[in-house]
Amino acid sequence: MSSQIEKSLVLIKPDGVQRALVGEVIKRFEQRGLKIIALKMVKPSIDHINDHYPKDEKWIERLGEKGFTTFKEQGIDPKQAMGTADKKEAGKMVRKWLIDYMTAAPIVAFVVEGIHAIEMVRKIVGPTLPSKAPIGTIRGDFSVDSPAVANIQKRSVKNMIHASETPEEAASEIKHWFSEEEIHDWARPDHEVMF
Ligand code: UDP
Ligand code: MG
Repeated sequence: MSSQIEKSLVLIKPDGVQRALVGEVIKRFEQRGLKIIALKMVKPSIDHINDHYPKDEKWIERLGEKGFTTFKEQGIDPKQAMGTADKKEAGKMVRKWLIDYMTAAPIVAFVVEGIHAIEMVRKIVGPTLPSKAPIGTIRGDFSVDSPAVANIQKRSVKNMIHASETPEEAASEIKHWFSEEEIHDWARPDHEVMF
């Protein structure tokens, strides 16, 4: 297989499933020429989600930082809003809320395969914060949430989708969610006219 053909993991988070947007989400990947090669509905355990998200300091600080950037733009004092102005402390809190969010109800997990799939999927999904996500992306079209509201309410930002960010993340996440037997090798005949 060409090295340009990549696989990426996508999760439709509880808000996407509960809002009955599963079909709408899957359509957006299929219409772009990406192929679904594995798919299931799961009610994940706390441990499964805890092991899905990175645990390293850098990633946790980045979680805290995403909220702080929004606070700054909105003129919100992080210490007053969250009880801390420390990125790492805030990141740890957000990570816990994220686990609560992801384990609250069933999610839909699938693997997408295609040309530059990791970047393509992220482009279709849009940036992390729905308040910043451009119209035309899934997060931009179907969500409006912001850390300026979520962090103060002590909950995760509801942004409907998870998508792998890097080839390393994709490889480990696909292994975490799917066995080899659950991943299917099949051909889309329309690909012959697409590329
Ligand atoms: N998140 C949050 N508040 C923040 C930043 C992130 O609740 O200020 C949640 C959000 O659900 C996001 C997840 O944490 O999807 C993982 O964050 P990451 O930075 O990896 O963003 P993603 O890769 O999902 O765009
Ligand atoms: Mg991420």
